[in-house]
Amino acid sequence: MRRYMIAGNWKLNMGPAEAVKLSREVRDGLRKFALRGEVLICPPFVSMPAVAEIIQDSPLLLGAQNCATEKSGAFTGEVSATMLAETGVTHVIIAHSERREYQKETDADFIKKINCSHEAGLTTIFCFGEVLEDRKNGRAEQVVQAQLEGVLPHLANLAATNTILAYEPVWAIGTGETATPEIAQEIHALVRRTVANISGSDIADAIRILYGGSCKPSNAHELFHQSDIDGGLIGGASLRAADFLGIVAGAEDVI
Ligand code: PEP
Repeated sequence: MRRYMIAGNWKLNMGPAEAVKLSREVRDGLRKFALRGEVLICPPFVSMPAVAEIIQDSPLLLGAQNCATEKSGAFTGEVSATMLAETGVTHVIIAHSERREYQKETDADFIKKINCSHEAGLTTIFCFGEVLEDRKNGRAEQVVQAQLEGVLPHLANLAATNTILAYEPVWAIGTGETATPEIAQEIHALVRRTVANISGSDIADAIRILYGGSCKPSNAHELFHQSDIDGGLIGGASLRAADFLGIVAGAEDVI
């Protein structure tokens, strides 16, 4: 049985003062749930120590939005997975479409980052998904498969316990446009088949696959009802406690 995960990616929002307020609201709001799954928030680096203090002794987990490709050394401006672990971080998002697009990160970067993350004892949330043009050209499945095959077979240690996959169709991120539950389920099933081919059916059955892209309280229930959708990676709606908690409620209902 896969436990659901709802992960909030705060992106370039929430400096320490705002992050304290939001993490407190989410922490307090979670008390009304039995919480069968896991709930994670990913603030910017500078807000992490303050958030770590607010959520200690609560089930809310702390994640990062990125980590360095290296463990230490002359890499100005970078933050290593080991440093994140020392700060109380348990999860790190790798290969978000915004980093693919704006930082031009490649499969080679993702492999290094994920290996660093696993070595530091963190769980990686590996993101992938097609752009609108791929979908219009009927290439969505091919693109997603290539994104998985470019990275997963090259990891030193891929396990369902240290890796979570996040299908995020780029055309649905921050656009208000959501993949229909049927479209999302089709791709999630393909992802599970692809993982089975790469790593065997035990890992494929146990690994969690999140959906991301304009997920909100009004569509969460229907999306999470799909058999291969194990939760969500949430952008915009994670910046308002009520919306984020509404999505958690959707997961509690059906997963
Ligand atoms: C994201 O950026 O990972 C995301 C899913 O954003 P949004 O929920 O705003 O579409």
